[in-house]
Amino acid sequence: MTEQTRHDEIAAGLAEVEERIADACRASGRSRDEITLIAVTKTYPASDVRVLAGLGVTDVGENRDQEAALKARECHDLGLTWHFIGQLQTNKARSVAEYADLVHSVDRSRLVAALGRAAIAAGRELGCLIQVALDDDPTRGGVRPADVLPLAEEVERAEGLGLRGLMAVAPLGGDPGKAFTLLTELAGAVRSRHPSADIVSAGMSGDLVEAIVNGATHLRIGTALLGRRRPFVR
Ligand SMILES: *Cc1c(COP(=O)(O)O)cnc(C)c1O
Repeated sequence: MTEQTRHDEIAAGLAEVEERIADACRASGRSRDEITLIAVTKTYPASDVRVLAGLGVTDVGENRDQEAALKARECHDLGLTWHFIGQLQTNKARSVAEYADLVHSVDRSRLVAALGRAAIAAGRELGCLIQVALDDDPTRGGVRPADVLPLAEEVERAEGLGLRGLMAVAPLGGDPGKAFTLLTELAGAVRSRHPSADIVSAGMSGDLVEAIVNGATHLRIGTALLGRRRPFVR
């Protein structure tokens, strides 16, 4: 595929996503500037990140440290905000703290401690979102709703970290609207104690409308922008 074709393809994807965002904002009486679009670029090359930046995208999301670290380095000149959205092992905290601005997948005390140490070592402040499990699938990460506030307190107390909000993935096969409503309620409870925690990260390619209508501030969109990913082989 030529560079021009890829550019046009991504531009068309972005236009379509922006149209869906605009429709959802209109339907729910929200303003477009309440919503941040995070382009999820996992499995796609740095050249695609460059195209997205040229089209005005300011935020990108990645879910694997090794891949993200390389891409963030290659795209350093673009001044983008980097979101780490995948499940994170504590031994990767050092690396992630070098390039990520926000980590959406904070879901246990040991990770809070590791990220705090890593942020201090890197001389950076790392924004943290608590990932909430809205179903009973332990493989997808996240804390149960009842454990959100205590973990949020831990982030708030940790030097090097800033509590920025909550994140969730809609349950497989469930009603995403209902799940996102619960997430937004939980986020309100957290924000009433910690005003800086104003991010509600919800909504992917398949459920971005439900996310906006139910209070999301940040959308994580991959497939609808860049196309279907090849299955990842470890
Ligand atoms: C891959 C990924 C996304 C993007 O999903 P799409 O369906 O491709 O838009 C969003 N959030 C997380 C946590 C992901 O891992």
